[in-house]
Amino acid sequence: METARRLSIRAKYPFLPESREYLAKHGLTIESFADPVYSRIVERAKARILDAANYGDNIGPWNLSDDELVELASFPLSIVMITSIGDRRLARRFALAESSLAVKLLEGEGEEVVLKIAREVFGMDVRVEKRTISGIEYDYSLGLKDYLRGALLFNKPEWKLVNRIVERGRVLVTSHELIRLMKDRIMDYVLELIDRAWGKPPKLPKPLEDAVKELRENLPKNLIEIELGSELGGPETWPPCMRAIRERLLSGENVSHFANFALASFLINIGMKPEEVLSLYANRPDFDARIARYQVEHIAGLRGSRTRYTTPSCSTMRTNGLCVKGGELCGGVRNPLTYYRRAMRRKLKLDKDKAEVGRERGEAGGEAMREARDEGGNAAAEGQSNNTR
Ligand code: SF4
Repeated sequence: METARRLSIRAKYPFLPESREYLAKHGLTIESFADPVYSRIVERAKARILDAANYGDNIGPWNLSDDELVELASFPLSIVMITSIGDRRLARRFALAESSLAVKLLEGEGEEVVLKIAREVFGMDVRVEKRTISGIEYDYSLGLKDYLRGALLFNKPEWKLVNRIVERGRVLVTSHELIRLMKDRIMDYVLELIDRAWGKPPKLPKPLEDAVKELRENLPKNLIEIELGSELGGPETWPPCMRAIRERLLSGENVSHFANFALASFLINIGMKPEEVLSLYANRPDFDARIARYQVEHIAGLRGSRTRYTTPSCSTMRTNGLCVKGGELCGGVRNPLTYYRRAMRRKLKLDKDKAEVGRERGEAGGEAMREARDEGGNAAAEGQSNNTR
């Protein structure tokens, strides 16, 4: 932690807008890394990715550089390298590790920094509120909406609203709890940064090409089965907009080209195979297997420019009239994929709890887990209709 204490806020939290602005002033581009003078940044970016792969949530600040530029620039460079590697599971692992590291660093910060990030980056409605009630020292109060958005993901009783002190629509939280609530926001935020860069890996200069090659060789095999694992969420975990498109397809309604594209790119990005996506469209009366396959494989980056398309953002969905109820059911997400990831985190937590309850009752825990999965279903097994055109 000694290095962390010496580093500036922007170096410790490189996802901050001010960190990106500072970096922009340095005028670094991908081509800059052809110059060996920047090799420390490349090394640190590699270490960021390997640490994320190896330690995930258990990452520590052991590899922080005491050079501000190295620490700052290695973050976006890691994202570039991850998009070049092109493994979504590694991307999630990286976001998990970066959020976990940020949380550990935030635990050592004063109120000012915590408030700045909570308010300015995540727009959280948080106020300082020093109170000691029943021996618990509360530090902040949080608007109900912000509290629920995070706490609904947790299953421990202490997070349930009935067990909280709520006053005039605000929930008292300790500093540790506020930081814990910020962790999921940071993870989503990092994933959004990755999503924006996904499918557009730039041409890399030789030192970066070598670094990516080395990473591919050194990343632990099977590492990257984490958090969301390889499990695919059924329609109950999809955002309302994607569920609505699916339902319209199933009912034989005509769906716009953009809506078809949005759904197909969403399904590809959550990890569905092109064949499974195609099966969703196969019963459409105007289904043309050849064209549909071409389109889905194009979206998946298997044809043409070899660029995997990202899922349209919520604002693009809104512009195309596909957002449901202006997003009021979605907790402020900016991309449908973020909704899905949250729903999956919640679902997997529930599955785990069910399995634990099963074990406690002397039943086969694995059976409970299987039941939970069966209830979740699989999108590919359900929606059997339509063409992507
Ligand atoms: S807010 Fe985003 S995820 Fe939710 S319905 Fe609208 S477009 Fe879909």
